[in-house]
Amino acid sequence: MSSVDDINEDKIEVGKPREWAAGVPGVTHAMGPAFRQMGVPRSLKALTAMNQRDGFDCMSCAWPDPEHRKTFEFCENGAKAVTWEATPITVPTEFWAENPISELLTKSEYWLGMRGRLVQPVHKPAGSEHYRPITWEDAFALIGDTLRGLDSPDEAAFYTSGRTSNEAAFLYQLFVRAFGTNNLPDCSNMCHESTSHAMAETVGIGKSTITYADFALADLIIIMGQNPGSNHPRMLTALEEAKDAGAAIVAVNPLPEAGLMRYKNPQRVRGVVGAGTVIADQYLQIRLGGDMALMQALSRRVLDAEAARPGTVLDHEFLTENCVGLEELRAHLARLDDDAVLAATGLRAAEIDELAARYLRAEKVIITWAMGITQHKKAVPTIREIINLLLLRGNIGKPGAGACPIRGHSNVQGDRTMGIWEKMPPAFLDALEREFGFDPPREQGLDSVGSIRAMRDGRVKVWIALGGNLVGAISDTAVAEAAIQKTSLSVQISTKLNRSHAVVGEQALILPTLGRTEIDLQATGPQFVSVEDTVSAVHSSTGRLKPVSDQLLSEVAIVSRLARATLERTTSIDWAGFENGYDSIRDHIAHVIPGFADFNQRIRQQEGFYLPHAPRDLRTFPTPSGKARLTVNDLEPLERPPGRLLLQTLRSHDQFNTTIYSPHDRYRGIKNGRQVIFVNPEDLAELGLISGMLVDVHSEFSDGVDRVLRRFRLVAYPSARGCAAAYFPEANVLVPLDSVAEDSNTPVSKSVLVRLEPSR
Ligand code: SF4
Repeated sequence: MSSVDDINEDKIEVGKPREWAAGVPGVTHAMGPAFRQMGVPRSLKALTAMNQRDGFDCMSCAWPDPEHRKTFEFCENGAKAVTWEATPITVPTEFWAENPISELLTKSEYWLGMRGRLVQPVHKPAGSEHYRPITWEDAFALIGDTLRGLDSPDEAAFYTSGRTSNEAAFLYQLFVRAFGTNNLPDCSNMCHESTSHAMAETVGIGKSTITYADFALADLIIIMGQNPGSNHPRMLTALEEAKDAGAAIVAVNPLPEAGLMRYKNPQRVRGVVGAGTVIADQYLQIRLGGDMALMQALSRRVLDAEAARPGTVLDHEFLTENCVGLEELRAHLARLDDDAVLAATGLRAAEIDELAARYLRAEKVIITWAMGITQHKKAVPTIREIINLLLLRGNIGKPGAGACPIRGHSNVQGDRTMGIWEKMPPAFLDALEREFGFDPPREQGLDSVGSIRAMRDGRVKVWIALGGNLVGAISDTAVAEAAIQKTSLSVQISTKLNRSHAVVGEQALILPTLGRTEIDLQATGPQFVSVEDTVSAVHSSTGRLKPVSDQLLSEVAIVSRLARATLERTTSIDWAGFENGYDSIRDHIAHVIPGFADFNQRIRQQEGFYLPHAPRDLRTFPTPSGKARLTVNDLEPLERPPGRLLLQTLRSHDQFNTTIYSPHDRYRGIKNGRQVIFVNPEDLAELGLISGMLVDVHSEFSDGVDRVLRRFRLVAYPSARGCAAAYFPEANVLVPLDSVAEDSNTPVSKSVLVRLEPSR
């Protein structure tokens, strides 16, 4: 077990934010922890197999792999993710007796994760303060008995994290639906659900409309609400290559992020000894929540340019043949209030004019986005406006152009393709019925926010999580934790400890599983799994390291045994056969899910394969009208009363989702601490506060509940005026469970009205 101490916020050091990303420090920050924690031989074996054709897929973000791969095809954060998982340090048996759950609740995510890999199933009996070892057989029997004892299958909810492979995800949803519920919440509910909703409405499919190769073909790439330097670092290489090929790049972000300013590619001479590559040619420090106004202002300028030079600006053929809604959009944007746009965006008109001119000059435009767009109340209409702007000049369905949501977890997109969704369409359920001979439930199930509400209200009594850390990821931490504590049984299938293992039902189980890096040996031999990246490319992932314990089961094996323990007598599905060899799962996937024909043969091709995508491949749109929809969306700027700020939650550089690799964020100048709030110096002066002071951060919502972060350190930071930022999961306490994005039910973590009060 690791001897690392917990974070001591009194030791925090605050320096200057960086203006460039990666470079030689990126290499040392990647390799140092790897060598220290894994040793040199294990590190080299793991890292040289990462993102290679015969190796394993990075378990961190969903960034795609280039066709021409190098020996080192990973970034600093990928190396940290591998180190986190492949560490040989394990949680010893005595840990469970020495650490009551009440003690685990006092620890940070960082401390919990640094205890090492979980290597034995453990059980917390009712009334006990401790987990204790349990056999696999007894653990599955407990789950099966408890599930069968429920009054209705809808009294259980089954969460999935984005690390889960296609094979495990397909099996899991099959088990859950054979059990009788659609309660399949997942981490996607908290990240790109707004994207899925808005893109399905407008272009008919909620996935990126580009491939990896399109980046190098683009004239202009607009990066919105996204910080690739910390969250998808290999994207910087694609952006550098796009710039080499002549693309312009525009960043739209309230904070100046190092990776969006300059990239020092450690695999190129100019990145090691030179100045690197300037990434953003234009940087718009937009106000939080101002993106929809910006998109409308750009579309308005496109339409004005067309009016001034008829027939030369819009892609008339595309709009006529492939789209509906142009006249309604034109009429709506004719009434756009310029002053409202400037107030909402905090930008100067000249900055918007400059971006509009870039957009009009470019023949091929890509717009990418992430959580900075999807976690607002108006996230869905904002993404619809991104699509409007792209459609006006035919920037969807042609090389070098398109909409590119960047997913945050490696297989979050694949899990949804496999059926991890509380409202899979009837065609999918019909195909399941034909393939497996049972009638899947048809009623909509619960998403993540819905599951917390249901546990809070006593409607869901069993919580099973295939990976992830829901209480760390979701809003309103106190409500979420109390909800899970009301369940009769909570089950976590995990590689390492996190907060969700300390927040338990009356009984609780932790089931340790193999990691992506580890050899997965089953009855028919070593197995591989598959994943789908953010541009719909499906490829295989094969673990290369000896498992850290021979007690571990793969996710597929765990799901298969869960199903057998719960359903053996009620379905004829060969669950044991799935565990013995994963080809049998892929054969079923090929029958059920469009685009996976000959799955077992095609997944063995070197590059895997792209899933079909009608808007991207054919410029056809699977919407009810068969055409892409331009939409009309009402602008409702966020109100910010005097003396208040808008706060967004964000990750540090040494963080992946809720996993905290270290207490540092070197790109933002933070060392040894996380309890900070970044505020513009002029806002600080206006509020009568001083950088370095400790403040209590209160969020303000109409329900009148005082949600507060105590003793957070003010850090003067050059963010957009009126906009503050703090790390999640710590700042999740500020967001009420019912503060969700319209239509997508995603927690609104990016525009939280707060007031700051000096701490006593
Ligand atoms: S860019 Fe993402 S997927 Fe690629 S190595 Fe880095 S963290 Fe892993």
